[in-house]
Amino acid sequence: MIGCPAGLESSGIEPEPLIAPMTVTVTRSDPRYPALRRGHNLRWPSHDADAAQRILLCEDAEDAAVALQQVVTAGLRPTVRSGGHCYEDFVVNNPGGAILDVSALSRVDRDASNGTFHLGSGVQLWNGYEALYKRYGVTLPGGVCGTVGAGGHISGGGYGPLSRLHGLSCDWVTAVNILTVDRHGRVVPIRADAENHSDLFRACRGAGGASFGLITGFEFATLPMAPREVAQASISFSWNDMTLEKLTRILMTFGKYWESRGQERDTWGMYSVLELSHRSAGKFSVSVQFCNPDGTCRDLSVMWEYLDLFSQWSSETGGSTARPSIKQSDWLNACAMSAGNAVNRRGKYKSTRMRRGFTPTEAAIIYKYLTKDVGGTSLHEASFDAHSYGGAVNRKEMAEQTAVPQRDSIIKLQPLTYWEKPEEDAAQTKWLAQFYEELYSGQNTDPQHAGTPYWSKHYEGCYINYPDVDMLQYNYWPQLYYGESNYAFLQTVKRRYDPNNIFHHAMSVRS
Ligand SMILES: Cc1cc2nc3c(=O)[nH]c(=O)nc-3n(C[C@H](O)[C@H](O)[C@H](O)COP(=O)(O)OP(=O)(O)OC[C@H]3O[C@@H](n4cnc5c(N)ncnc54)[C@H](O)[C@@H]3O)c2cc1C
Repeated sequence: MIGCPAGLESSGIEPEPLIAPMTVTVTRSDPRYPALRRGHNLRWPSHDADAAQRILLCEDAEDAAVALQQVVTAGLRPTVRSGGHCYEDFVVNNPGGAILDVSALSRVDRDASNGTFHLGSGVQLWNGYEALYKRYGVTLPGGVCGTVGAGGHISGGGYGPLSRLHGLSCDWVTAVNILTVDRHGRVVPIRADAENHSDLFRACRGAGGASFGLITGFEFATLPMAPREVAQASISFSWNDMTLEKLTRILMTFGKYWESRGQERDTWGMYSVLELSHRSAGKFSVSVQFCNPDGTCRDLSVMWEYLDLFSQWSSETGGSTARPSIKQSDWLNACAMSAGNAVNRRGKYKSTRMRRGFTPTEAAIIYKYLTKDVGGTSLHEASFDAHSYGGAVNRKEMAEQTAVPQRDSIIKLQPLTYWEKPEEDAAQTKWLAQFYEELYSGQNTDPQHAGTPYWSKHYEGCYINYPDVDMLQYNYWPQLYYGESNYAFLQTVKRRYDPNNIFHHAMSVRS
């Protein structure tokens, strides 16, 4: 244990300067403060008064422990940041508190004695992919954005182009190194795995680390081999002559595929996103990445079969490609192209895990909102993204071993919108909120859960790595994200490992 017992209430007196030995402390007078107090989403801090007082840049796990102890002893609220890509204000809005930034915890290596891979929580995904590939030929089935941090991403699930083939990132974790704070306010470093602190271990595999402590790193006894090569293609559709009928057919084709053919193993190496941009963007697309289950492109018939379903709509709608060209490249190159550096901007996101494809009623609502204009703002960066899901993600035994109970979905939805100016916040967020609410107020939703994709034969709730505070208006929001019995389990973990609720945000697990 580190440090001494401390009262947890803030005295109101300005605390002593924080002096963890190696930590760099950035306070308001520091020229770096305006940049470092922010994350990827520029909506926060909403007001200067909401900003953290200081940002502590921790050098390594020991340093993070000392810094966390000092913050807790000083009675400040710690929020933990790895990659800073949180969709909501969970890290940034921390009035008077301290952001513990662990981005320097960027270790990627392998223990020579037992072959275990170690990934620091501050590793950015692209750096992790590159190092794992170059040094060991393996990879993590994680997300597409290269600057997302391992700390938030893996602890909240972690889904990407290889997940249908290999499962979620959190499925591969075999130990989590985490700093918790006991009831006396003492920092307690824990290595949680299937034998020791197995409840905490499970919770950190999908429920997000931010409810339980500060994760310093992940261990993996093994990781999947990186594909040798992948094939990529995209088909675009023009909005010029898009009708409700055509859009419905595209949506139904997409959904039907993942509901049926997409369940078969030879398709698990295929990942596809139907990126339905708003009409003001002019066009939208369906993109595909594919490799055979053996990690090669020796047989592309599965990919062609899929693309051919959509090519007909593209020519019919005057889109740019009749039969698209397929581009093959080594996996690292393909990964580098998709793992771009996301530009910081204002955004709002929602999510749904779908067990079934789209219905005509849903398609009509999607068409309505994607063709609707809103006064005072432009929706040209708004999009309704449907990601292929399922495959290895849906191994049922993983529901028990991890904190991701949603193991039956075939599509993961991400409706989102980006914009520039703070004055547009209200119009943009209102458009998305109304869209989502109407989508889930129809025949597929029981009246008790109207406005949300509550668990039913159609849906499996939402994804905690895409948090949406609008859902807090529903008293069943925890079950939406965490599942019913799983949430009860997480609450016991919370009571045991964070009895003083040191680690909390608007959608963290309540004790
Ligand atoms: C551009 C973009 C692309 C994305 N693409 C994908 C994708 O392809 N697939 C996918 O599954 N998700 C994707 N996401 C969502 C992403 O997985 C989540 O936003 C994730 O939580 C970000 O982690 P982070 O460490 O970068 O963020 P942060 O803002 O640092 O943290 C996010 C949350 O995790 C907590 N946290 C962070 N680090 C730690 C830690 N070390 N210990 C304990 N708690 C911690 C924070 O306190 C916060 O609550 C994307 C997000 C963005 C912005």
